[in-house]
Amino acid sequence: MTGFWIDGREVDSLGNAGETQVGNPANGSLVGSVPTGTARDVDAAVEAARDAFPGWWETSAAKRGETLFAGSEAIKSAVNELAPLLTAEQGKPIGEARMEIFRFAHTLEHYAGMAKNLRGGSVPNLDSDPPRSGLILKRPLGVCAAITPWNFPLSLAGNKLAPGIVAGNTFVLKPASTTPLTVLRAAAILSAAGLPKGVLNVICGPGGSVGAAMCEHPDVAKVGFTGSTPVGKGVMRSAASTVKRVTLELGGSDPFIVMDSADIDRAVSACSVGRFFNGGQACLAVKRVFVHEAVYEEFKEKLLAKVARLRVGPGSNSKNRIGALHTAGGRQEVEEQVADALQNGATLLAGGGRPQGDEYEKGNFLLPTVLENVPYDSKMSCEEVFGPALPLFKIRDLDEAIRRANDSEFGLGSSIWTRDLEQAMLAAQRLEAGYTWINSISKIYDELPFGGFKQSGLGQEHGMEALEHYQLTKSVVLGH
Ligand code: NAP
Repeated sequence: MTGFWIDGREVDSLGNAGETQVGNPANGSLVGSVPTGTARDVDAAVEAARDAFPGWWETSAAKRGETLFAGSEAIKSAVNELAPLLTAEQGKPIGEARMEIFRFAHTLEHYAGMAKNLRGGSVPNLDSDPPRSGLILKRPLGVCAAITPWNFPLSLAGNKLAPGIVAGNTFVLKPASTTPLTVLRAAAILSAAGLPKGVLNVICGPGGSVGAAMCEHPDVAKVGFTGSTPVGKGVMRSAASTVKRVTLELGGSDPFIVMDSADIDRAVSACSVGRFFNGGQACLAVKRVFVHEAVYEEFKEKLLAKVARLRVGPGSNSKNRIGALHTAGGRQEVEEQVADALQNGATLLAGGGRPQGDEYEKGNFLLPTVLENVPYDSKMSCEEVFGPALPLFKIRDLDEAIRRANDSEFGLGSSIWTRDLEQAMLAAQRLEAGYTWINSISKIYDELPFGGFKQSGLGQEHGMEALEHYQLTKSVVLGH
């Protein structure tokens, strides 16, 4: 059993809630286990983070950056150990697991590089008689909680830890109950690379008890949460009891618009990657495709040809492009969304079921699925589809595409493919989403702030903006 990481060492739970087994989504085998945490473990982890905070805040920002940079290098060196563990517990193809480890390391490195740019401001001559001036101070918040989902266990943790730690905060992190192992190992690696004890603490346990206790704990100043919209709303409610800061990165149903002037081949590639990366289990993923009627048939034919080449199978085999879905329940949800669309008049163009054969029997596999004529009021159109299934919609013009695209409670990402600059800029202005990619695959950049509109989130991660969410701003008036 792998213990929690608290105060710079591996520890067992203080409660008696037993252990949580971690299974391999590709074959059901046991990957490992962790103690099932309780509120007592939350208290212990918060105490360690609280004790570490004054020392970490007093550490120079440059030194904090150096420490984070050393951690980033250590994570990169450990990729051959971490990536197979991530694939085993999460299910993703090994190549994508390696990409996630490097993504995590790059985010640490990015914010390490920003350490020396942390600064406040000043306002001279607030008054002249008597003279007064103003200072704007920035300071860390204190103990921050990070709660993360299972789809990108490490990189989504990095989006919180990197800006938060470099700004001088300390953390208690709770990974999803089904993917704790890679994160626990990464915490130990960061610690060995020089992160002082107590700066990063990792505990595991059910979101409903351990996660909720983190959100309500009086000594936690902020909650950085990534997960589903319904749970995010609960996090916001729990955090309200002590007026904690929250950032919420929640669900999405990203539209992908293809206009008649688009480079169809490139759009098809981006659509395929955008939908089927991580088995379709990504927040920022192509989830609704709107294609201009003039190029609809060409786009559809080329997309189907590409989808037919996507190999499904265990993520540990580097030839496979779509691994097992993370849970049987998650697969069932996608199957129900597809069945609902078909019952209401949709046409199946590809997939629609589970792959057959011994290799697939014990895993949560699902074939890449494409549909058309999906009703706009069906589950696939209205809910988040968290798996490899994609509806295609035919549209007459850009107005219709934008209207349909915005007809969603979500507002996470969006894409448009067109060679018409005016159309592209109009879409960028009007699409209700925190990201719009124009003629580009839906890739995330540490340099650019990202946060969902509408019910997809609150606040931003990445960019300089993420640092703002991990600092308090204070004004000081200086008399002479
Ligand atoms: P989830 O069910 O909301 O769980 C996310 C995390 O919250 C897990 O660690 C979970 O713990 C914990 N949790 C559950 N109930 C809680 C509570 N009452 N209080 C505090 N924490 C609680 O989400 P998921 O199914 O793991 O992840 C998929 C969702 O995440 C999708 O909707 C996806 O779009 C979204 N997502 C968003 C982004 C983004 O950047 N916007 C990125 C990735 C994923 P347990 O594991 O113990 O339940």
